[in-house]
Amino acid sequence: MTLLALAVSGRGLVDPSEPAVHADDEAFLRGRGAFETTRVYAGRPFRLGRHLDRLGESAARLGVVVPPGVEELAAQALAAAGAVDAFLRLYVTPGREGSGEPTALALVGELPPDLEVLRARGIALVTVPLGVDPPWLLGGIKSTSYAANMVAVDEAKRRGADDAVFLARDAIVLEGPTTNVWWRRGETLHTPALELGVLAGVTRAVVVEAAPELGYRVEEGVYRLDELLGADEAFTSSSVREVMPVASIDAARYALGPAAGALQAALRALT
Ligand code: PLP
Repeated sequence: MTLLALAVSGRGLVDPSEPAVHADDEAFLRGRGAFETTRVYAGRPFRLGRHLDRLGESAARLGVVVPPGVEELAAQALAAAGAVDAFLRLYVTPGREGSGEPTALALVGELPPDLEVLRARGIALVTVPLGVDPPWLLGGIKSTSYAANMVAVDEAKRRGADDAVFLARDAIVLEGPTTNVWWRRGETLHTPALELGVLAGVTRAVVVEAAPELGYRVEEGVYRLDELLGADEAFTSSSVREVMPVASIDAARYALGPAAGALQAALRALT
Protein backbone atom coordinates (compact mmCIF):
# COMPACT_ATOMS: atom_id res chain seq x y z
CA MET A 1 0.00 0.00 0.00
CA THR A 2 1.44 3.38 -0.98
CA LEU A 3 0.57 6.17 1.43
CA LEU A 4 -0.34 9.48 -0.18
CA ALA A 5 -0.97 11.59 2.93
CA LEU A 6 -0.94 11.29 6.71
CA ALA A 7 -2.31 13.54 9.46
CA VAL A 8 -1.71 12.86 13.16
CA SER A 9 -3.46 14.39 16.18
CA GLY A 10 -1.43 17.13 17.82
CA ARG A 11 0.87 17.34 14.80
CA GLY A 12 -1.29 17.83 11.71
CA LEU A 13 0.08 16.74 8.35
CA VAL A 14 3.29 14.75 8.53
CA ASP A 15 5.46 13.09 5.93
CA PRO A 16 3.77 9.68 5.39
CA SER A 17 7.16 7.98 5.32
CA GLU A 18 7.91 9.23 8.87
CA PRO A 19 7.02 7.14 11.98
CA ALA A 20 3.73 8.30 13.53
CA VAL A 21 3.00 5.88 16.42
CA HIS A 22 5.04 5.44 19.59
CA ALA A 23 6.55 2.03 20.34
CA ASP A 24 4.63 1.91 23.64
CA ASP A 25 1.24 2.79 22.13
CA GLU A 26 -1.24 0.20 23.41
CA ALA A 27 -2.64 -0.23 19.89
CA PHE A 28 0.78 -1.53 18.91
CA LEU A 29 1.59 -3.36 22.16
CA ARG A 30 -1.75 -5.14 22.55
CA GLY A 31 -3.85 -4.42 19.47
CA ARG A 32 -6.27 -2.22 21.40
CA GLY A 33 -7.23 0.37 18.81
CA ALA A 34 -10.16 1.15 16.53
CA PHE A 35 -10.04 1.88 12.82
CA GLU A 36 -12.14 2.60 9.78
CA THR A 37 -11.56 2.31 6.07
CA THR A 38 -13.54 4.55 3.75
CA ARG A 39 -13.47 4.62 -0.01
CA VAL A 40 -12.57 7.98 -1.53
CA TYR A 41 -13.96 8.94 -4.94
CA ALA A 42 -12.22 11.89 -6.64
CA GLY A 43 -11.05 13.15 -3.26
CA ARG A 44 -14.44 12.75 -1.54
CA PRO A 45 -14.96 10.10 1.15
CA PHE A 46 -18.12 7.99 0.79
CA ARG A 47 -20.45 8.08 3.81
CA LEU A 48 -17.75 9.43 6.10
CA GLY A 49 -20.34 10.26 8.78
CA ARG A 50 -21.34 6.62 9.06
CA HIS A 51 -17.69 5.55 9.29
CA LEU A 52 -17.04 8.14 12.01
CA ASP A 53 -20.06 6.87 13.96
CA ARG A 54 -18.81 3.29 13.68
CA LEU A 55 -15.30 4.39 14.73
CA GLY A 56 -16.87 5.82 17.88
CA GLU A 57 -18.83 2.61 18.51
CA SER A 58 -15.73 0.43 18.05
CA ALA A 59 -13.62 2.69 20.28
CA ALA A 60 -16.28 2.63 23.01
CA ARG A 61 -16.39 -1.19 22.94
CA LEU A 62 -12.59 -1.26 23.20
CA GLY A 63 -12.50 1.29 26.01
CA VAL A 64 -10.58 3.79 23.87
CA VAL A 65 -11.41 7.50 24.06
CA VAL A 66 -11.76 9.20 20.67
CA PRO A 67 -9.71 12.41 20.76
CA PRO A 68 -11.39 15.51 19.32
CA GLY A 69 -10.69 16.53 15.73
CA VAL A 70 -10.71 13.19 13.90
CA GLU A 71 -12.87 14.62 11.13
CA GLU A 72 -10.48 17.57 10.73
CA LEU A 73 -7.53 15.19 10.45
CA ALA A 74 -9.41 13.33 7.71
CA ALA A 75 -10.05 16.60 5.89
CA GLN A 76 -6.37 17.55 6.12
CA ALA A 77 -5.18 14.20 4.78
CA LEU A 78 -7.76 14.26 1.98
CA ALA A 79 -6.85 17.82 0.97
CA ALA A 80 -3.16 16.88 0.88
CA ALA A 81 -3.85 13.81 -1.28
CA GLY A 82 -5.90 15.76 -3.85
CA ALA A 83 -8.79 14.60 -6.05
CA VAL A 84 -7.75 10.96 -6.02
CA ASP A 85 -9.62 7.65 -6.05
CA ALA A 86 -8.14 6.12 -2.93
CA PHE A 87 -8.98 4.90 0.53
CA LEU A 88 -9.02 6.84 3.78
CA ARG A 89 -8.10 5.04 6.99
CA LEU A 90 -8.82 6.48 10.40
CA TYR A 91 -7.21 5.11 13.55
CA VAL A 92 -7.85 5.83 17.19
CA THR A 93 -5.36 4.46 19.70
CA PRO A 94 -5.06 4.80 23.50
CA GLY A 95 -1.66 6.42 22.97
CA ARG A 96 1.47 5.76 25.02
CA GLU A 97 0.90 3.26 27.80
CA GLY A 98 -0.37 5.02 30.93
CA SER A 99 -0.44 8.45 29.24
CA GLY A 100 -4.21 8.77 29.02
CA GLU A 101 -3.64 10.69 25.78
CA PRO A 102 -5.37 8.96 22.88
CA THR A 103 -3.99 9.43 19.40
CA ALA A 104 -5.79 9.66 16.08
CA LEU A 105 -4.37 9.19 12.62
CA ALA A 106 -5.88 9.77 9.19
CA LEU A 107 -4.11 8.34 6.21
CA VAL A 108 -4.92 8.25 2.54
CA GLY A 109 -3.51 5.41 0.48
CA GLU A 110 -3.61 4.04 -3.03
CA LEU A 111 -6.22 1.44 -3.90
CA PRO A 112 -5.09 -2.09 -4.76
CA PRO A 113 -4.40 -2.08 -8.51
CA ASP A 114 -6.27 -5.27 -9.38
CA LEU A 115 -9.83 -4.46 -8.25
CA GLU A 116 -11.43 -4.25 -11.69
CA VAL A 117 -9.59 -7.37 -12.93
CA LEU A 118 -11.00 -9.24 -9.93
CA ARG A 119 -14.47 -7.81 -10.50
CA ALA A 120 -14.45 -9.01 -14.10
CA ARG A 121 -13.44 -12.58 -13.23
CA GLY A 122 -15.02 -12.92 -9.78
CA ILE A 123 -13.07 -13.83 -6.66
CA ALA A 124 -12.35 -17.29 -5.31
CA LEU A 125 -13.14 -17.79 -1.63
CA VAL A 126 -12.30 -20.55 0.82
CA THR A 127 -14.07 -21.21 4.10
CA VAL A 128 -12.13 -20.78 7.34
CA PRO A 129 -13.81 -22.23 10.45
CA LEU A 130 -13.32 -20.10 13.56
CA GLY A 131 -14.85 -22.69 15.89
CA VAL A 132 -16.62 -19.99 17.93
CA ASP A 133 -20.23 -19.63 19.02
CA PRO A 134 -21.40 -16.27 17.71
CA PRO A 135 -21.39 -13.49 18.66
CA TRP A 136 -17.82 -13.62 19.91
CA LEU A 137 -16.26 -11.03 22.21
CA LEU A 138 -15.09 -8.52 19.63
CA GLY A 139 -17.59 -9.34 16.91
CA GLY A 140 -19.00 -6.44 14.92
CA ILE A 141 -16.25 -3.93 15.62
CA LYS A 142 -13.22 -2.81 13.66
CA SER A 143 -10.24 -3.20 15.97
CA THR A 144 -6.56 -3.17 15.17
CA SER A 145 -6.50 -6.80 16.42
CA TYR A 146 -7.07 -8.05 12.87
CA ALA A 147 -4.26 -10.61 12.93
CA ALA A 148 -6.70 -13.56 12.62
CA ASN A 149 -8.38 -11.82 9.67
CA MET A 150 -5.07 -11.27 7.90
CA VAL A 151 -3.85 -14.81 8.57
CA ALA A 152 -7.14 -16.07 7.09
CA VAL A 153 -6.39 -14.12 3.89
CA ASP A 154 -2.88 -15.65 3.84
CA GLU A 155 -4.45 -19.09 4.27
CA ALA A 156 -6.86 -18.38 1.39
CA LYS A 157 -3.94 -17.38 -0.84
CA ARG A 158 -2.00 -20.50 0.17
CA ARG A 159 -5.01 -22.52 -0.94
CA GLY A 160 -4.99 -20.74 -4.33
CA ALA A 161 -7.95 -18.44 -3.57
CA ASP A 162 -8.32 -14.67 -3.19
CA ASP A 163 -10.10 -14.34 0.13
CA ALA A 164 -11.78 -16.21 3.00
CA VAL A 165 -15.24 -16.64 4.52
CA PHE A 166 -15.37 -17.19 8.27
CA LEU A 167 -17.64 -19.90 9.65
CA ALA A 168 -18.79 -20.13 13.23
CA ARG A 169 -19.46 -23.48 14.91
CA ASP A 170 -21.91 -25.71 13.02
CA ALA A 171 -20.84 -24.15 9.70
CA ILE A 172 -22.78 -20.93 10.35
CA VAL A 173 -21.73 -18.35 7.72
CA LEU A 174 -20.33 -15.11 9.20
CA GLU A 175 -18.36 -12.73 6.96
CA GLY A 176 -15.03 -12.34 5.20
CA PRO A 177 -11.92 -10.94 6.95
CA THR A 178 -12.72 -7.49 5.48
CA THR A 179 -16.07 -8.01 3.73
CA ASN A 180 -19.70 -8.89 4.27
CA VAL A 181 -20.94 -11.93 2.38
CA TRP A 182 -24.07 -12.15 0.23
CA TRP A 183 -25.79 -14.64 -1.99
CA ARG A 184 -28.87 -14.74 -4.20
CA ARG A 185 -31.56 -17.37 -4.60
CA GLY A 186 -34.06 -16.28 -7.22
CA GLU A 187 -34.99 -12.70 -6.39
CA THR A 188 -33.93 -12.89 -2.72
CA LEU A 189 -30.57 -11.67 -1.45
CA HIS A 190 -29.36 -13.30 1.74
CA THR A 191 -26.72 -12.11 4.18
CA PRO A 192 -25.81 -13.12 7.76
CA ALA A 193 -27.68 -11.16 10.45
CA LEU A 194 -25.85 -8.54 12.50
CA GLU A 195 -26.82 -10.45 15.68
CA LEU A 196 -24.13 -12.96 14.70
CA GLY A 197 -21.52 -10.28 15.46
CA VAL A 198 -20.64 -9.57 11.83
CA LEU A 199 -19.61 -6.00 11.06
CA ALA A 200 -22.47 -3.65 10.13
CA GLY A 201 -20.79 -2.81 6.83
CA VAL A 202 -21.42 0.60 5.33
CA THR A 203 -21.54 -1.07 1.90
CA ARG A 204 -23.84 -3.77 3.32
CA ALA A 205 -26.25 -0.97 4.27
CA VAL A 206 -26.05 0.40 0.71
CA VAL A 207 -26.97 -3.04 -0.66
CA VAL A 208 -29.93 -3.25 1.76
CA GLU A 209 -31.04 0.21 0.59
CA ALA A 210 -30.56 -0.33 -3.14
CA ALA A 211 -31.89 -3.90 -3.49
CA PRO A 212 -35.67 -3.22 -3.53
CA GLU A 213 -35.43 -0.75 -6.43
CA LEU A 214 -33.54 -3.37 -8.39
CA GLY A 215 -36.26 -5.95 -7.79
CA TYR A 216 -34.57 -7.89 -4.99
CA ARG A 217 -35.74 -8.48 -1.45
CA VAL A 218 -33.22 -8.83 1.36
CA GLU A 219 -33.31 -11.52 4.01
CA GLU A 220 -30.89 -11.39 6.94
CA GLY A 221 -30.61 -14.52 9.02
CA VAL A 222 -28.59 -17.38 10.45
CA TYR A 223 -27.50 -19.65 7.60
CA ARG A 224 -25.40 -22.77 7.31
CA LEU A 225 -22.73 -23.07 4.63
CA ASP A 226 -24.95 -25.37 2.49
CA GLU A 227 -27.33 -22.44 1.94
CA LEU A 228 -24.50 -20.37 0.52
CA LEU A 229 -22.98 -23.17 -1.54
CA GLY A 230 -26.31 -23.91 -3.22
CA ALA A 231 -27.02 -20.27 -4.17
CA ASP A 232 -27.56 -18.92 -7.70
CA GLU A 233 -24.98 -16.18 -7.25
CA ALA A 234 -22.66 -14.90 -4.52
CA PHE A 235 -20.81 -11.65 -3.88
CA THR A 236 -19.07 -9.67 -1.14
CA SER A 237 -19.49 -6.04 -0.09
CA SER A 238 -16.87 -3.71 1.37
CA SER A 239 -15.78 -0.11 1.12
CA VAL A 240 -12.54 -0.77 -0.74
CA ARG A 241 -13.66 -3.58 -3.05
CA GLU A 242 -17.29 -2.43 -3.27
CA VAL A 243 -19.61 -5.15 -4.63
CA MET A 244 -17.38 -7.99 -5.74
CA PRO A 245 -18.75 -11.08 -7.53
CA VAL A 246 -17.70 -14.48 -6.20
CA ALA A 247 -16.69 -17.14 -8.73
CA SER A 248 -16.16 -19.99 -6.25
CA ILE A 249 -16.29 -21.01 -2.60
CA ASP A 250 -14.21 -24.09 -1.83
CA ALA A 251 -15.29 -26.56 -4.58
CA ALA A 252 -18.60 -24.79 -5.40
CA ARG A 253 -18.61 -22.68 -8.57
CA TYR A 254 -20.90 -19.72 -9.32
CA ALA A 255 -21.75 -18.07 -12.61
CA LEU A 256 -21.33 -14.29 -12.34
CA GLY A 257 -24.93 -13.20 -11.88
CA PRO A 258 -27.04 -10.08 -12.42
CA ALA A 259 -27.39 -8.88 -8.81
CA ALA A 260 -23.71 -8.09 -8.18
CA GLY A 261 -23.42 -6.04 -11.36
CA ALA A 262 -26.64 -4.12 -10.73
CA LEU A 263 -25.72 -3.40 -7.11
CA GLN A 264 -22.22 -2.27 -8.04
CA ALA A 265 -23.75 0.17 -10.55
CA ALA A 266 -26.24 1.37 -7.91
CA LEU A 267 -23.39 1.90 -5.42
CA ARG A 268 -21.37 3.89 -7.96
CA ALA A 269 -24.39 6.01 -8.76
CA LEU A 270 -24.49 7.07 -5.08
CA THR A 271 -20.81 8.07 -4.93
N1 PLP B 1 -16.64 -7.23 7.71
C1 PLP B 1 -15.40 -6.97 8.20
C2 PLP B 1 -14.82 -7.90 9.20
C3 PLP B 1 -14.68 -5.84 7.76
O1 PLP B 1 -13.47 -5.58 8.27
C4 PLP B 1 -15.26 -5.00 6.78
C5 PLP B 1 -14.56 -3.81 6.27
O2 PLP B 1 -13.39 -3.67 6.33
C6 PLP B 1 -16.54 -5.31 6.28
C7 PLP B 1 -17.19 -6.42 6.79
C8 PLP B 1 -17.19 -4.43 5.26
O3 PLP B 1 -17.56 -3.19 5.83
P1 PLP B 1 -17.66 -1.85 4.99
O4 PLP B 1 -18.67 -2.08 3.92
O5 PLP B 1 -18.09 -0.83 5.98
O6 PLP B 1 -16.31 -1.57 4.42
